[in-house]
Amino acid sequence: SGVNRVPLIAGNWKMHTTYDEAVSLAEAYRERLAQLEGVECALIPPYPWIVPLAEKLEGSTLVLGAQNCATIDQGALTGEVSARMLAPFCRYVIVGHSERRHQLGESDEMVAAKLQAAVRNGLSPILCVGELLAERDQGLAERVVERQLGSALEALEAAHLTRLVIAYEPVWAIGTGRPATPSDAQAIAACIREWIAQRFGSDLAATVRIQYGGSVNAGNAADFLQLPDIDGALVGGASLDVEQFCEIVRVAR
Ligand code: PGA
Repeated sequence: SGVNRVPLIAGNWKMHTTYDEAVSLAEAYRERLAQLEGVECALIPPYPWIVPLAEKLEGSTLVLGAQNCATIDQGALTGEVSARMLAPFCRYVIVGHSERRHQLGESDEMVAAKLQAAVRNGLSPILCVGELLAERDQGLAERVVERQLGSALEALEAAHLTRLVIAYEPVWAIGTGRPATPSDAQAIAACIREWIAQRFGSDLAATVRIQYGGSVNAGNAADFLQLPDIDGALVGGASLDVEQFCEIVRVAR
Protein backbone atom coordinates (compact mmCIF):
# COMPACT_ATOMS: atom_id res chain seq x y z
CA SER A 1 0.00 0.00 0.00
CA GLY A 2 2.94 2.33 0.53
CA VAL A 3 1.35 3.71 3.70
CA ASN A 4 3.70 3.77 6.65
CA ARG A 5 1.68 2.97 9.75
CA VAL A 6 3.67 3.70 12.92
CA PRO A 7 3.13 0.70 15.21
CA LEU A 8 1.38 1.39 18.51
CA ILE A 9 2.33 -0.61 21.59
CA ALA A 10 -0.23 0.07 24.31
CA GLY A 11 -0.01 -1.26 27.85
CA ASN A 12 -3.41 -1.87 29.42
CA TRP A 13 -2.78 -2.03 33.16
CA LYS A 14 -6.43 -2.99 33.81
CA MET A 15 -7.43 -2.79 37.50
CA HIS A 16 -3.86 -3.34 38.71
CA THR A 17 -1.28 -1.19 40.53
CA THR A 18 -1.29 0.90 43.68
CA TYR A 19 -0.43 4.57 43.27
CA ASP A 20 3.20 3.86 44.23
CA GLU A 21 3.47 0.95 41.79
CA ALA A 22 1.96 3.05 39.01
CA VAL A 23 4.47 5.84 39.59
CA SER A 24 7.44 3.47 39.60
CA LEU A 25 6.26 1.74 36.41
CA ALA A 26 5.81 5.10 34.67
CA GLU A 27 9.22 6.30 35.83
CA ALA A 28 10.87 3.08 34.66
CA TYR A 29 9.22 3.34 31.23
CA ARG A 30 10.06 7.02 30.96
CA GLU A 31 13.72 6.21 31.53
CA ARG A 32 13.92 2.96 29.56
CA LEU A 33 11.84 4.10 26.57
CA ALA A 34 13.32 7.57 26.22
CA GLN A 35 14.39 7.13 22.60
CA LEU A 36 11.26 6.08 20.74
CA GLU A 37 11.70 6.09 17.00
CA GLY A 38 9.45 4.30 14.56
CA VAL A 39 7.09 3.20 17.31
CA GLU A 40 4.51 4.86 19.53
CA CYS A 41 4.03 3.74 23.10
CA ALA A 42 0.96 4.37 25.27
CA LEU A 43 0.52 3.63 28.97
CA ILE A 44 -3.10 2.95 29.95
CA PRO A 45 -3.36 3.06 33.75
CA PRO A 46 -6.46 3.06 35.98
CA TYR A 47 -8.36 6.38 36.02
CA PRO A 48 -7.04 7.77 39.35
CA TRP A 49 -3.42 7.59 38.19
CA ILE A 50 -3.96 9.42 34.89
CA VAL A 51 -3.50 12.99 36.13
CA PRO A 52 -0.45 12.32 38.34
CA LEU A 53 1.15 10.22 35.58
CA ALA A 54 0.51 12.96 33.02
CA GLU A 55 2.69 15.19 35.20
CA LYS A 56 5.38 12.53 35.58
CA LEU A 57 5.48 11.95 31.81
CA GLU A 58 5.56 15.60 30.80
CA GLY A 59 8.16 16.14 28.10
CA SER A 60 8.53 12.40 27.42
CA THR A 61 7.55 10.63 24.22
CA LEU A 62 5.25 8.24 26.09
CA VAL A 63 1.55 9.04 25.85
CA LEU A 64 -1.36 8.11 28.09
CA GLY A 65 -4.62 6.37 27.43
CA ALA A 66 -7.72 5.58 29.48
CA GLN A 67 -9.36 2.16 29.76
CA ASN A 68 -12.93 3.32 29.18
CA CYS A 69 -15.08 6.43 28.85
CA ALA A 70 -18.75 7.32 29.29
CA THR A 71 -21.27 7.40 26.45
CA ILE A 72 -21.98 11.12 27.03
CA ASP A 73 -19.80 14.15 27.86
CA GLN A 74 -21.40 15.23 31.15
CA GLY A 75 -24.48 14.60 33.21
CA ALA A 76 -26.06 12.73 36.10
CA LEU A 77 -24.20 9.43 35.69
CA THR A 78 -22.71 8.55 39.05
CA GLY A 79 -19.32 6.89 38.81
CA GLU A 80 -18.74 7.50 35.11
CA VAL A 81 -15.81 9.42 33.59
CA SER A 82 -16.30 11.18 30.28
CA ALA A 83 -14.06 11.49 27.25
CA ARG A 84 -14.26 15.25 27.70
CA MET A 85 -12.68 14.91 31.15
CA LEU A 86 -9.95 12.60 29.85
CA ALA A 87 -9.06 14.52 26.71
CA PRO A 88 -6.64 17.03 28.30
CA PHE A 89 -4.52 14.18 29.71
CA CYS A 90 -4.86 11.28 27.27
CA ARG A 91 -4.33 10.61 23.60
CA TYR A 92 -6.06 7.21 23.56
CA VAL A 93 -9.08 5.57 25.11
CA ILE A 94 -9.90 1.87 24.96
CA VAL A 95 -13.48 1.29 23.83
CA GLY A 96 -15.32 -2.02 24.02
CA HIS A 97 -12.71 -4.12 25.80
CA SER A 98 -14.01 -7.69 26.08
CA GLU A 99 -13.91 -7.55 29.88
CA ARG A 100 -16.40 -4.67 29.70
CA ARG A 101 -18.50 -6.30 26.99
CA HIS A 102 -18.70 -9.71 28.66
CA GLN A 103 -18.30 -9.11 32.42
CA LEU A 104 -19.88 -5.66 32.72
CA GLY A 105 -22.65 -6.02 30.15
CA GLU A 106 -21.48 -3.40 27.69
CA SER A 107 -23.61 -3.61 24.55
CA ASP A 108 -22.66 -2.88 20.94
CA GLU A 109 -24.80 0.28 21.24
CA MET A 110 -22.87 1.51 24.27
CA VAL A 111 -19.58 0.79 22.52
CA ALA A 112 -20.75 2.82 19.51
CA ALA A 113 -21.75 5.76 21.74
CA LYS A 114 -18.38 5.63 23.54
CA LEU A 115 -16.53 5.61 20.23
CA GLN A 116 -18.45 8.74 19.18
CA ALA A 117 -17.73 10.39 22.54
CA ALA A 118 -14.01 9.67 22.06
CA VAL A 119 -13.69 11.17 18.58
CA ARG A 120 -15.99 14.09 19.44
CA ASN A 121 -13.50 15.04 22.16
CA GLY A 122 -10.38 14.58 20.06
CA LEU A 123 -9.30 11.26 21.58
CA SER A 124 -8.13 8.31 19.52
CA PRO A 125 -10.29 5.29 20.30
CA ILE A 126 -8.70 1.86 20.51
CA LEU A 127 -11.75 -0.17 19.51
CA CYS A 128 -11.52 -3.75 20.77
CA VAL A 129 -13.20 -6.51 18.79
CA GLY A 130 -12.94 -10.26 19.07
CA GLU A 131 -14.86 -13.49 19.24
CA LEU A 132 -15.52 -15.93 22.09
CA LEU A 133 -14.03 -19.43 21.92
CA ALA A 134 -17.44 -20.98 21.15
CA GLU A 135 -17.87 -18.53 18.29
CA ARG A 136 -14.46 -19.40 16.84
CA ASP A 137 -15.20 -23.12 17.20
CA GLN A 138 -18.39 -22.60 15.19
CA GLY A 139 -16.48 -20.77 12.47
CA LEU A 140 -18.11 -17.46 13.39
CA ALA A 141 -15.00 -15.39 14.24
CA GLU A 142 -15.13 -13.19 11.14
CA ARG A 143 -18.87 -12.69 11.37
CA VAL A 144 -18.67 -11.62 15.04
CA VAL A 145 -15.87 -9.16 14.34
CA GLU A 146 -17.76 -7.73 11.36
CA ARG A 147 -20.89 -7.30 13.49
CA GLN A 148 -18.87 -5.45 16.15
CA LEU A 149 -17.26 -3.23 13.49
CA GLY A 150 -20.56 -2.52 11.79
CA SER A 151 -22.20 -1.40 15.00
CA ALA A 152 -19.27 0.59 16.42
CA LEU A 153 -18.36 2.36 13.19
CA GLU A 154 -21.87 2.93 11.85
CA ALA A 155 -21.92 6.64 12.69
CA LEU A 156 -18.18 7.27 12.33
CA GLU A 157 -17.29 10.01 9.84
CA ALA A 158 -14.49 9.31 7.39
CA ALA A 159 -12.66 12.38 8.76
CA HIS A 160 -12.18 10.58 12.08
CA LEU A 161 -10.99 7.32 10.59
CA THR A 162 -7.26 8.14 10.56
CA ARG A 163 -7.21 8.43 14.34
CA LEU A 164 -9.01 5.12 14.86
CA VAL A 165 -7.07 2.13 16.17
CA ILE A 166 -8.65 -1.31 16.14
CA ALA A 167 -7.45 -4.04 18.49
CA TYR A 168 -8.25 -7.58 17.46
CA GLU A 169 -8.46 -9.44 20.75
CA PRO A 170 -9.92 -12.94 20.63
CA VAL A 171 -11.56 -13.31 24.05
CA TRP A 172 -10.12 -16.78 24.63
CA ALA A 173 -6.58 -15.43 24.19
CA ILE A 174 -6.83 -12.66 26.80
CA GLY A 175 -4.98 -13.40 30.02
CA THR A 176 -4.79 -17.09 29.22
CA GLY A 177 -1.20 -17.46 28.05
CA ARG A 178 -2.68 -18.93 24.88
CA PRO A 179 -2.35 -16.36 22.06
CA ALA A 180 -3.94 -16.69 18.65
CA THR A 181 -1.69 -18.16 15.99
CA PRO A 182 -0.03 -15.45 13.89
CA SER A 183 -1.84 -16.75 10.80
CA ASP A 184 -5.26 -16.51 12.51
CA ALA A 185 -4.41 -13.00 13.75
CA GLN A 186 -3.31 -11.92 10.26
CA ALA A 187 -6.44 -13.42 8.68
CA ILE A 188 -8.78 -11.48 10.98
CA ALA A 189 -6.71 -8.28 10.68
CA ALA A 190 -6.89 -8.52 6.88
CA CYS A 191 -10.62 -9.08 7.13
CA ILE A 192 -10.96 -5.98 9.37
CA ARG A 193 -8.98 -3.87 6.89
CA GLU A 194 -11.06 -5.19 4.00
CA TRP A 195 -14.27 -4.37 5.88
CA ILE A 196 -13.02 -0.80 6.40
CA ALA A 197 -12.00 -0.57 2.73
CA GLN A 198 -15.48 -1.62 1.61
CA ARG A 199 -17.03 1.03 3.81
CA PHE A 200 -14.55 3.94 3.56
CA GLY A 201 -12.31 3.10 0.59
CA SER A 202 -8.94 1.41 0.49
CA ASP A 203 -6.83 4.58 0.82
CA LEU A 204 -8.40 5.37 4.21
CA ALA A 205 -8.37 1.72 5.25
CA ALA A 206 -4.62 1.65 4.66
CA THR A 207 -4.13 4.36 7.33
CA VAL A 208 -5.95 2.55 10.15
CA ARG A 209 -3.72 0.80 12.65
CA ILE A 210 -4.80 -2.68 13.70
CA GLN A 211 -3.30 -4.18 16.85
CA TYR A 212 -3.27 -7.75 18.02
CA GLY A 213 -4.01 -8.36 21.71
CA GLY A 214 -4.24 -11.49 23.85
CA SER A 215 -1.29 -13.03 25.73
CA VAL A 216 1.32 -10.95 23.92
CA ASN A 217 4.70 -11.21 25.65
CA ALA A 218 8.37 -10.55 24.94
CA GLY A 219 8.76 -14.03 23.45
CA ASN A 220 5.93 -13.92 20.91
CA ALA A 221 5.58 -10.18 20.08
CA ALA A 222 7.81 -10.35 17.00
CA ASP A 223 5.63 -13.11 15.49
CA PHE A 224 2.66 -10.71 15.50
CA LEU A 225 4.41 -7.43 14.79
CA GLN A 226 5.91 -8.70 11.54
CA LEU A 227 2.50 -9.50 10.05
CA PRO A 228 1.45 -7.24 7.15
CA ASP A 229 -1.88 -6.09 8.65
CA ILE A 230 -0.81 -5.94 12.32
CA ASP A 231 0.44 -2.52 13.42
CA GLY A 232 1.07 -2.96 17.09
CA ALA A 233 -0.07 -4.76 20.21
CA LEU A 234 -2.47 -4.19 23.07
CA VAL A 235 -0.64 -5.71 25.99
CA GLY A 236 -2.24 -6.61 29.33
CA GLY A 237 -0.25 -8.73 31.79
CA ALA A 238 3.14 -8.14 30.19
CA SER A 239 2.69 -4.35 30.41
CA LEU A 240 3.11 -4.61 34.20
CA ASP A 241 6.55 -6.20 33.74
CA VAL A 242 9.18 -3.62 32.80
CA GLU A 243 11.55 -6.05 31.08
CA GLN A 244 8.80 -7.69 29.03
CA PHE A 245 7.10 -4.48 27.96
CA CYS A 246 10.36 -2.75 27.00
CA GLU A 247 11.30 -5.77 24.90
CA ILE A 248 7.91 -5.70 23.13
CA VAL A 249 8.42 -2.01 22.33
CA ARG A 250 11.97 -2.76 21.14
CA VAL A 251 10.88 -5.44 18.67
CA ALA A 252 8.14 -3.13 17.31
CA ARG A 253 10.68 -0.60 16.02
P1 PGA B 1 -3.29 -9.95 28.13
O1 PGA B 1 -4.47 -8.88 27.99
O2 PGA B 1 -2.09 -9.38 27.39
O3 PGA B 1 -3.04 -10.05 29.62
O4 PGA B 1 -3.76 -11.21 27.52
C1 PGA B 1 -4.67 -8.21 26.78
C2 PGA B 1 -5.82 -7.24 26.89
O5 PGA B 1 -6.80 -7.54 27.60
O6 PGA B 1 -5.80 -6.15 26.29
